[in-house]
Amino acid sequence: MPANHSCCAGCAIPLPSSMTFDPRQRCGSCLLTPPPFHRVVAPWLYGEYLSHIIHQWKFSGERRMTPLLASLWQQRAEIHSPIDLLVPVPLHWRRRWQRGFNQSELLCRQILATSPELDRCKLAHQLVKRRRSTAAQSSMTAQQRAHNLKGAFTVSESCDNLSIAIVDDVFTTGATASAVADALVTAGADHIEVWCLARTPAPDY
Ligand SMILES: [Zn+2]
Repeated sequence: MPANHSCCAGCAIPLPSSMTFDPRQRCGSCLLTPPPFHRVVAPWLYGEYLSHIIHQWKFSGERRMTPLLASLWQQRAEIHSPIDLLVPVPLHWRRRWQRGFNQSELLCRQILATSPELDRCKLAHQLVKRRRSTAAQSSMTAQQRAHNLKGAFTVSESCDNLSIAIVDDVFTTGATASAVADALVTAGADHIEVWCLARTPAPDY
């Protein structure tokens, strides 16, 4: 499986291989418009094999794949600073009901149960709610995704001075993670990271 080893410190987009890699380096997009989170941890590229596993996991109800996916994340991810809360990206209640589970919440639970360095970190699966059902995003541009998600998330409690990791399966344009991060920043969060299994490469690279 292709690892995402030379990527932007802000959004984990793979950087062109011709560049001398510096782990603090940020892509043009993050320099121009800094995202509302400090970093994205996305240790794998969303290639054919991983997309197949994630698809089976999410859409065929193969929950038993959760430990495999969490261990893939743990193999390559580095936790740099203390995190207080893990927040799975919420599904709208209707989609959760149809699927029977929220895959990001499964991932959070498994990572928490098997990462000794997160022993003081808690799962906050009720903290962020998806206020409305949003249209499926797979065929939308980045701009359309951002518009689709504007105001879609609400936070139920104050997050003053908390360090939070938002957990999702795949990081594509970052529109979902940014919308959740915006809501958490408004609620007072101090440090926000996004933890995903995989990053989709930019179409140009
Ligand atoms: Zn970037």
